[in-house]
Amino acid sequence: MIAIDFLNTRRGGKLGEADATERLTSFEAVASWAAVAGLLSKGDASVSGATQPHYELALDLRADFQNVLLSRTPAARRKLLKTLNLALSSKGAFIAALESRGEFRFGVQFREPNPSNVSFAIANAILECLRDTPLDSIKQCEAADCIWFFVDTTKNRSRRWCVGQGCGARSRSRKHYHLSKVR
Ligand SMILES: [Zn+2]
Repeated sequence: MIAIDFLNTRRGGKLGEADATERLTSFEAVASWAAVAGLLSKGDASVSGATQPHYELALDLRADFQNVLLSRTPAARRKLLKTLNLALSSKGAFIAALESRGEFRFGVQFREPNPSNVSFAIANAILECLRDTPLDSIKQCEAADCIWFFVDTTKNRSRRWCVGQGCGARSRSRKHYHLSKVR
């Protein structure tokens, strides 16, 4: 899910900022991530004319979304709502009715290449995620050195680790350990 992938553009530990690795180091990095994720074309994700507020808005979307998942307080939800609406107030983009494979749906359309298109598209992806995914199924990996999120689709919501290299292996070996204990 794209909105979850967006959260996972930071890597590192829960121990502190110093341990975190930032993938979105500039607005260019955000725009190219969004284009690769399929949120908009490289052309629509124009970086010419991008300013610091464009970059900060994208990072705020990620931080506020993450806070809602971690703290679930009304204050965190209000903050995310405000940031989403700021991102969705871009004049260069709009939500339109589209039809694909015989089904009507909402979709993002762009009037012209504009740096604000990037946060618009990201905000829309976050909204779609919040609409379609039960909040309690979006979890943060339990590994101490990992801050990634994942959607737990198991029936009893028992998944604890993300699919990141170390964490996936940890969860597999854990499973193996449980199995061998049962035997
Ligand atoms: Zn993990």
